[in-house]
Amino acid sequence: MTTAAELQARAAAVLPGGSTHIARSYRPPLYVVRAHGARKWLVDGRELVDYTMGHGALLLGHADPRISEAVAEQAARGTHFAAGHEREIEWAERIAALVAAVERVRFTSSGTEATMLALRLARAATGRDLVAKLHDHFHGWYDAVSADRDASSRHFSPDGVPEAVLAQTRVIDPADPEGLDSALGDGQVAALILEASGGHYGRHPLPDGYVAAARRVCDRTGTLLVIDEVVTGFRVHPGGMQALLGVRPDLSTFGKVMAGGLPGGAVGGRADLLDLLAVGSDGRAAVPHPGTYNGNPLSAAAGCTMLALVADGAAQEQAATTAMELERRIAARLAATGVGGRVWRLSSMVHVRLDDAAAEGRLDGLLRAGGVDFFHSSAFVSTAHTEADLEVTEDAFDSALRVAVAGG
Ligand code: PMP
Repeated sequence: MTTAAELQARAAAVLPGGSTHIARSYRPPLYVVRAHGARKWLVDGRELVDYTMGHGALLLGHADPRISEAVAEQAARGTHFAAGHEREIEWAERIAALVAAVERVRFTSSGTEATMLALRLARAATGRDLVAKLHDHFHGWYDAVSADRDASSRHFSPDGVPEAVLAQTRVIDPADPEGLDSALGDGQVAALILEASGGHYGRHPLPDGYVAAARRVCDRTGTLLVIDEVVTGFRVHPGGMQALLGVRPDLSTFGKVMAGGLPGGAVGGRADLLDLLAVGSDGRAAVPHPGTYNGNPLSAAAGCTMLALVADGAAQEQAATTAMELERRIAARLAATGVGGRVWRLSSMVHVRLDDAAAEGRLDGLLRAGGVDFFHSSAFVSTAHTEADLEVTEDAFDSALRVAVAGG
């Protein structure tokens, strides 16, 4: 039988850092052979209660039979037609039916591509070069959204991002009451993009009324508002975070839940903006947008099935109810162990912060050792999580908290 150590050695030789994603660079790495419901099984036979849930994509848990069947059926009929197909139309219709601000939809292969396209559309529509984002809000890994501020408000970005690109992105501190006005006030910014939940799907909550205020400043300054619903879309409410807040963006970006656990993303929004992608009678589009896997039939099959299953809001409510119980039990473990920290929740997403940052840094690893896989001290709860999963989680928390603060 293959062992984790063998896989680790092979991975180290061909994958940079032995992994395919910065957030999957665990020490020791995890090699999963199978996943079902709320559980995943490792190559060494261990079983984990999973709260990473496909980085938030799997609202119905792993391998939901209805989604698996739809994908298998589509795979048997072809995986790529390089032409239109009914499922992509249905997929867009479902998104437009659920999200009030969506009049048209263009599919992409990922959430990253969706936010990239939204900013391209905004620049094309406004004729402005600059874009603005909020500090610590994540929109993918490409240049324009990699700019951020450090503690002393200096712009920074990862190696490999040109200074000239960095200069095109204004970064706003959401804690600064003047931030929106000073970044957008000169009318030079094409779009403000933000996570309406607060950065990292609510790990960094926004001040009350912030998104509505952003809408007003955008209106006053001719800036387009892009709400990034890649994580929150269809998860916090069938109509997304924008439905919960009652704010209508010009453009929205989607991914994750939308594609039912397969690769996919989309931009949705005002028809006049999305129609910049349309090819006219002269054979040209104002904003040309190709993409080999746009509206891919497999992803469309998974996405249509997922959206049909979550359209009435019952799945979101069920996952949120389980998440509320998870939140309650973690709070109880914090109290019982006397570890300083906080647990809070947005719908089915639970966030934990320990007062001792070093202890928090150890938490994910300790939880994994106890059979529970959290994602950067946060949890995505699905409809598949059960009482038995919560019990394993509560026990794992109890031990992990005790060890984390002891410095182990
Ligand atoms: N926007 C947000 C809010 C995200 O959390 C993510 C990914 N975690 C993305 C965009 C990028 O999506 P993808 O990983 O599909 O490119």
